[in-house]
Amino acid sequence: MRTTTGWQATGPTTLRRTLLERRDLRPDDLAVRIEHCGVCHSDLHALNDHDQRVDAPLVPGHEFTGVVTETGPEVTAFTVGDRVAVGNIVDSCGVCAMCAAGQENFCHSFPTLTYGGTDRRDGSTTLGGFSREYVVRDRFAYPLPAGLDPAAAAPLLCAGVTVWEPLRALGVGPGSRVAVAGLGGLGHLAVKMAVALGATTTVISRTQEKRDDALRLGAHDLLDSTDTRQMAATRDTFDVVIDTISASHDLAPYLKVVAMDGTLSLLGYLGPVTVEAMDLLVGRKKLSSAGSGGRRSTAEMLQFCADNGIAADVEVLPSAQVETALDRLRRNDVRYRFVLDMSDLD
Ligand SMILES: [Zn+2]
Ligand SMILES: [Zn+2]
Repeated sequence: MRTTTGWQATGPTTLRRTLLERRDLRPDDLAVRIEHCGVCHSDLHALNDHDQRVDAPLVPGHEFTGVVTETGPEVTAFTVGDRVAVGNIVDSCGVCAMCAAGQENFCHSFPTLTYGGTDRRDGSTTLGGFSREYVVRDRFAYPLPAGLDPAAAAPLLCAGVTVWEPLRALGVGPGSRVAVAGLGGLGHLAVKMAVALGATTTVISRTQEKRDDALRLGAHDLLDSTDTRQMAATRDTFDVVIDTISASHDLAPYLKVVAMDGTLSLLGYLGPVTVEAMDLLVGRKKLSSAGSGGRRSTAEMLQFCADNGIAADVEVLPSAQVETALDRLRRNDVRYRFVLDMSDLD
C-alpha cells in the first residue's frame, strides 16, 4: 500500500486530517496528485448518512482534477505529468448492456463509486477526493482539455455531466426552449450549457434577486415561481425543464410550464415524488431523471466545455476549510460551487 493525506469524516459536520492508504498501482491504474476537488450536495448526504460506529471510513469528494504522477505498465492513454479529471464513478462491470452502450453510470451491477463504493477487485471501500492522491483505473480518468482551468473544471465531473447528459439526451439545440429551475451548482452549469447549445434559456427561481446573476450566466430571462400570473402566462412553453432544486417540492407548477411533448427532468431531488397523471396527460408531458455520466458523454462534455469556455463559477478554499465549505453549502451560501485546493495537504 501507499499512503497519502486526506480529510476523513468524524461526524455529520466534522472531518479530520489523517493519513490514508491507497492501493499499489495495478497494471491499468494511474496515480493522480489531486489539486482541486469540488464540494457536492452528495457529500452532505454522505456525511449525514454515515455512521462512524458501523460504516467503513468516509472520505468524501468525487469531482476532482489533478496531475498523473505514476502509471501502471498497461496504461497507454496517459503519461506522467498529464492533467486529468475524475468524476463520481471509478469502475463498472464493462460487459452489461449499459456499459456496452457507454452508460457506465447505469451499470447493471452498479458502478463503483469514487467514495463509499466497493472496489471490484479487492473488495475495499473506496476513499474519495478530499485527499492529496487517488489511484484510479485508467478508463475512468479523463484528459483535462487544454484551456480549462483546473479548479473551475473540477465541478464539471459531477455537477456538469449530470446536467449535460439530459440536455443532450433530450435533444437540446438551436431553437430549443429550456428552463432551469434552481440556480445552484447544477443549475448554473445547466444554464451555461443550454445557452452554448443554442437554446433560449430561462431560469425559474423563487426570487427576482437572482435575475442579474441569471442574465450574467447567459440566461435570456428569469421567471419568478412565486408569481402565479407569470407562471400561468408561461404555460406549455418549455421543451425541456431541468429541475435542479435539491429539496422535495411540488412538481405541478413545473409540469405546467413544460411544452406539449416536452420533458421535466428531475435532477436535484431524487426521493419519492407525487405526480397527478392529469398533469402529464394534458400536453403529453414526460417526467424523467438523470445523474452522473458515462465515459463517452463525460469526455464529450469536457471537450464541449473547453470549446465553449464553460466552467463552474467557483469559490476556491484551502482544503483545511472543508468544514466551512460544507456548512455554507448546507445553507446554500455559495455562488456556485466550492472547490478545495489540496496543496495544503503536502
Ligand atoms: Zn456529486
Ligand atoms: Zn455494467
